[in-house]
Amino acid sequence: MRLIDHLIAGSGSSPAGPSSGRTGEVFDPNSGAVQAHVALGDAAVLNRAVEAAKAAQPAWAATNPQRRARVMFEFKRLVEASMDDLAHLLSSEHGKVVADSKGDIQRGLEVIEFCCGIPHVLKGEYTQGAGPGIDVYSMRQPLGIGAGITPFNFPAMIPLWMSGVAIAVGNAFIIKPSERDPSVPVRLAELFLEAGLPAGICQVVHGDKEMVDAILDHPDIAAVSFVGSSDIAHYVYNRGVAAGKRVQAMGGAKNHGIVMPDADLDQVVTDLAGAAFGSAGERCMALPVVVPVGEDTAERLREKLVPAIAALRVGVSTDGEAHYGPVVTAAHKAKVEAWIATAEAEGGELVVDGRGFTLQGHEQGFFVGPTLIDHVTPEMTSYQEEIFGPVLQIVRAKDFEEALSLPSKHQYGNGVAIFTRNGHAAREFAARVNVGMVGINVPIPVPVAYHTFGGWKRSAFGDTNQHGMEGVKFWTKVKTVTARWPDGGVGDGANAFVIPTMG
Ligand code: NAD
Repeated sequence: MRLIDHLIAGSGSSPAGPSSGRTGEVFDPNSGAVQAHVALGDAAVLNRAVEAAKAAQPAWAATNPQRRARVMFEFKRLVEASMDDLAHLLSSEHGKVVADSKGDIQRGLEVIEFCCGIPHVLKGEYTQGAGPGIDVYSMRQPLGIGAGITPFNFPAMIPLWMSGVAIAVGNAFIIKPSERDPSVPVRLAELFLEAGLPAGICQVVHGDKEMVDAILDHPDIAAVSFVGSSDIAHYVYNRGVAAGKRVQAMGGAKNHGIVMPDADLDQVVTDLAGAAFGSAGERCMALPVVVPVGEDTAERLREKLVPAIAALRVGVSTDGEAHYGPVVTAAHKAKVEAWIATAEAEGGELVVDGRGFTLQGHEQGFFVGPTLIDHVTPEMTSYQEEIFGPVLQIVRAKDFEEALSLPSKHQYGNGVAIFTRNGHAAREFAARVNVGMVGINVPIPVPVAYHTFGGWKRSAFGDTNQHGMEGVKFWTKVKTVTARWPDGGVGDGANAFVIPTMG
């Protein structure tokens, strides 16, 4: 069976190989079968990657920024040329439909497009005449070696958020992808090499907690960017910071969609079908909670939602007509179904029950049918916790203030959306809600690459967001130079000041 191995400069095919002994299973979520094994590395594997990174990074940092940008341009071209293959590979391990996989890759590529302009972005600040004969200027310098630890749900976009910016500003970067769908990050690192990136600047190590701990403790890794679930994000943040590293750690989410009485309900239902159920709900910016304001809005919305959910097509990830595919593993399917049972036991009304769903011909696949639960209340644990599956919960609010308070008080604060035709309500909501990313009639408000991505509360630990200028800040340190060049004293003889001549 295929082994998905580490990608470490200089040791790829040597007999001593990069692999350590342990491996993990990688499934095909459509069939439920194991399709490959992934090497699970340890500190010894990481040390080899760090040594290669240390050898390569100074020359990369000294490469002028236009040349680094040219590698980004070429990388973008290569990824675009491989889009179909990459998307099918991604779907085969993750389970999302191929169109979603293309979106996953495309959103990551937009960060690479931002990185193509890195020479402009890296220009520092300058003050002439801060004092007599004194000028002050600042420059952004790379940190050295950075690492990224990524979740299963966006195996292209999130590695590209981190690697693009980290590398473009002059760092060496080591990625530790999710062990559940590790192939696409390896393929992306290979394409970076093909695009002209020197060996050692982008490497991949695989593993689980053992490898994550090795990364967090390694004295030569200056910064760690993490995306995953909140408890692990918190752990990574604390351990990394204790080891003296710069850490940004994005966590889980429970995003709310507020539906005001004046909203266009047909559009809201169309938006919810994609935002709650697309990618089987395995998106940190999914909308798994809808909050209709007023009983009348709730009744009208529910009446339209039920047939829309019935019309959703669940299929294998290569089914071009399917709205969504299987969830990532059997364990995750069991967890989602257990949350549906909990929600019912807590008093939620199970309007549409997706448990026990099977797809003909794919009975062992990890499919969960779309689920709608009404009369969910803030006391229920199924509301407080992230389900991360194709499950939509309705929490009814009596007025705008109650609707505003729900996402504001929730432990997570990643994204939120409001659906309304009232500009004042939307403006008030955006200003007052205690959440990091807000959509106004936009169900999944993922900011474009030149803005930044990051939630609040338990959705993010650390104070710097992903990509855009925040990403540049995270992956660089500022050096400020104060220079004094007093008048006169240019000297003579050997010390004479000579203006260079051309030619
Ligand atoms: P996860 O937390 O299980 O895994 C994330 C990474 O942590 C993986 O690389 C994994 O190998 C590693 N890991 C797992 N267990 C560990 C442990 N005990 N100690 C150290 N490291 C460990 O997350 P996941 O299931 O892969 O991804 C889904 C989660 O990620 C959801 O909670 C989702 O909301 C979140 N997410 C958040 C964002 C965001 O930007 N806020 C984006 C995408 C996903």
